Amino acid sequence: MGRGTRVDVHLHLTRYWRDLPGTAYRPDLDYTVRGLLGELDGAGIGSGLAIPVHHAPDVGATLEEGRSLRTESGGRLHLVSTVDPGIGDEGVAAAVERWGRTPELTAIKLFPGYLPFFPHDRRLDPVYEFAAHRKLPVMFHQGDTLERNGRLKFARPIDLDEVAVRWPDLPIVICHLGNPWVEETAELVYKNSNVWTDCSGLLARPTVPYFREMFERARSRLHQLIVTVGDADRVLYGSDWPLESIATAVELVATLPIPEDDRERILGGNARRLFHLDASGPIS
Ligand SMILES: [Zn+2]
Repeated sequence: MGRGTRVDVHLHLTRYWRDLPGTAYRPDLDYTVRGLLGELDGAGIGSGLAIPVHHAPDVGATLEEGRSLRTESGGRLHLVSTVDPGIGDEGVAAAVERWGRTPELTAIKLFPGYLPFFPHDRRLDPVYEFAAHRKLPVMFHQGDTLERNGRLKFARPIDLDEVAVRWPDLPIVICHLGNPWVEETAELVYKNSNVWTDCSGLLARPTVPYFREMFERARSRLHQLIVTVGDADRVLYGSDWPLESIATAVELVATLPIPEDDRERILGGNARRLFHLDASGPIS
């Protein structure tokens, strides 16, 4: 598989991120489409998913921003939307209706932990019904939150088991390996054939003390997850850019002590299949 077919499933490029300057992995980062594509090119990544943040004002804003990123990047940044179930049943129904008219939608991202809801909240049933029917992956923020006022009780991978069982046709992605609950994530991926995980956002800024040890620990935990599951078919490469350098995130996977075929699957093949990227239509 060529490097251009590699996919970063976890990128954030949005005007709605309020505290970005204090959180990017490098203060002088070029936070534009050009800057992002430059980093992807430097690391041999062909395309990626542009994921909105929970600060996005509404579903319409995520679609509008995602469409313009897709166009400006020549189709290399795929469209992802999000919804807060706290907006109420009518709002969720309207979101689903809009998504139904958006053929280029590649995934939905939900933010339990940042927002106060459990993944098995019944208010999300219309989202899951729609996504299961369309085989559209739903990605869940899981584990540690960047913001101090996040609520970790809503972000534990174990609570996704209920969703995975109730919606067997729903493709589910547990982001960040559910860090620090990586063993819970491994069990969910092992038990449920409709659960994937991405290894984004496991590393802090490279300037922190112990960064190298942190990198090695993250790689070892990722390796343990693959060994626990027994294969690498539902593990996805992602960086969480701009929180993490794309080159470092690639290195985490590229230096895993597993066969090269499996590393390439994680770096792109698994994502292309899960997100139907080879079937993408023309850019509009
Ligand atoms: Zn993220």
